[in-house]
Amino acid sequence: MTDAIGEIPELYGFSSWSEGLIDVAEGGDLALRNPQDDTPPVSLPAIMDSLAERGISAPILLRVQPFLDRSLARLHDAFDTAFRDVNYRGAYRGVFPIKVNQQSDVVERLTEAGRAYHFGLEVGSKPELLIALSQKMSPDALLICNGAKDAAFIHLAILSQKLGFNTIIVLESLHEFEIVTRIASELNVRPLLGVRIKLTETVTGKWQASSGDRSVFGLSAFELMKLTARLEETGLMDRLVLQHTHLGSQVPNIMDVRRATTEACRFYVELCRLGAPLEYLDLGGGLGVDYTGERRPDENSVNYTVHEYCRNLAETVGYAMDEAGIDHPTIVTESGRFVVAQSAIFVFKILNATLYDNSERPEVTEGDHHLLSDLLEVENYIVAARLQEALNDAIYYRDEIRALFRRGQIDLQLLARSEQAFLYLLSRFKTAAKQEDCVGQIDEQLTGFVDYYHGNFSLFQSLPDVWAIDQLHPIMPLQRLNEEPTRSAVLTDITCDSDGKIDQFVLADGVAGALPVHGLRDGEDYYIGVFFVGAYQETLGDLHNLFGDPNVVTITLDGDGGFDIEHETEGDTIAQVLSYVEYDPQDCLATFRATVEKALKAGKVNAVERRTMIAAYKNSLAGSTYFDTDC
Ligand SMILES: *Cc1c(COP(=O)(O)O)cnc(C)c1O
Repeated sequence: MTDAIGEIPELYGFSSWSEGLIDVAEGGDLALRNPQDDTPPVSLPAIMDSLAERGISAPILLRVQPFLDRSLARLHDAFDTAFRDVNYRGAYRGVFPIKVNQQSDVVERLTEAGRAYHFGLEVGSKPELLIALSQKMSPDALLICNGAKDAAFIHLAILSQKLGFNTIIVLESLHEFEIVTRIASELNVRPLLGVRIKLTETVTGKWQASSGDRSVFGLSAFELMKLTARLEETGLMDRLVLQHTHLGSQVPNIMDVRRATTEACRFYVELCRLGAPLEYLDLGGGLGVDYTGERRPDENSVNYTVHEYCRNLAETVGYAMDEAGIDHPTIVTESGRFVVAQSAIFVFKILNATLYDNSERPEVTEGDHHLLSDLLEVENYIVAARLQEALNDAIYYRDEIRALFRRGQIDLQLLARSEQAFLYLLSRFKTAAKQEDCVGQIDEQLTGFVDYYHGNFSLFQSLPDVWAIDQLHPIMPLQRLNEEPTRSAVLTDITCDSDGKIDQFVLADGVAGALPVHGLRDGEDYYIGVFFVGAYQETLGDLHNLFGDPNVVTITLDGDGGFDIEHETEGDTIAQVLSYVEYDPQDCLATFRATVEKALKAGKVNAVERRTMIAAYKNSLAGSTYFDTDC
């Protein structure tokens, strides 16, 4: 199949990031490939259409279960291979940090598919602890409690050890230790403990602040010495089994991983020498995803593979322990992003477009202002050698005309015709620039005149990191990939916020300000897919403009070129969203009904109108917050 992929999917850097999960089918549709077998890929637009027939329409967050299973398997296989390659004699125990994706569907699948690997969970709050305690993990899996903890959290965590959970309370501060000792002695349980260490090494990347000695979390060397003294005094030293460090998410540079691991090993060795019977070296999260496929130490990329990551950890830890004459510890990582990011795809429909060019040349008539003919005259020198000059002139004349309008010297009609003339010239510029393969300033200037494609989605709800931290995701149209995209667009959402747009795209030759798209056709759906959105996006999303959760569908790829729905969550209705901001939808309806009734009494509406109005209000309450494109 890969042979058949032509140049067009490659515009989107497709083969650098698709990692064998996504393919292009015969008719030009983007298609999902089941990584577990060799069955034909399943067309993504076809999946969307058949979900729409069932009444589940876009925007949809699509979870692809085989992708999730594959990431889990890849992580464990990579550690297996690395351990064999470097002769590492300890084991690996992964845990999933629930904060990366708390959705029950995801956590349940991970604990189920993860049982074979004794894959555990990491929690950073009481609600997350309650989730973990409701899961059926392998009896050998770890339950790691990080983050700030109050007495109730600690109480429950200690009690859970009696139920057979391998709960480890990771001490974040000396203060926390005092609560732990108090509760442990009340309960007469000797809890398993871990300690979070503040490394002095810092890393690059978006989460720099999680590392180094100004990190909010963990104990400094000085505090650590105080803690070991307290552990001795309270007779709990023999319960300190885990050392934890976390560098922050998405560490772009493997050199940082190695430096930090080396330092973590130094602490581990020293703690062992002080008498702690450590068994687990927890290196936290940080294993990154290559969102751009560029394999560079950039914020949205990583300069290593999962294999290199695992091998680096195994080698560094093995070497440090051998040198100190200490048994190889069980390596723990809290790799959440790596495990879930690729498993979800966000799909929305383009509703319509604002085009920034026009193929129709306006007529110039006798008596028109000379600036209009000057403007149109530019057309005569839109040629390779004078492109920049021509564009500068066009912009100059357009701005002059606008100034005249503002001063009351030309009328609206002439302003409109000159705007049309400018758009006409833009279409000529775009064609010329494409033919000349323009780069540099003119390319940048023309990027300022690309189309707006308006999508039926909310950036704030579904792609919060794109808005907040400029996260890049692979984004591309899902259909017509056998057809040259003739337009370039920025994608805008339906919130009335000018920040609600995507204007950074991963393309074959780097990050660009516009996405190559096809001209829209009447009556034909045009879907856009945003890939690798499984980590962090869902619960960070907000209700800006009161757009709620989209529909969420989990599918498996059944091997017959089709798919099965594993799980489905309907998106928020308007009534639900209103109740989130403390309105009672029934009260709202009652008030509206009273207003309509009053209008009826006053003769402003008739009985039939009254009925239609109430029905419209009620239907909307029960309906989706997004545009209904089926009516
Ligand atoms: C957020 C977090 C993680 C997850 O890290 P990723 O690199 O995103 O997988 C792991 N451990 C801790 C303590 C965290 O706070």
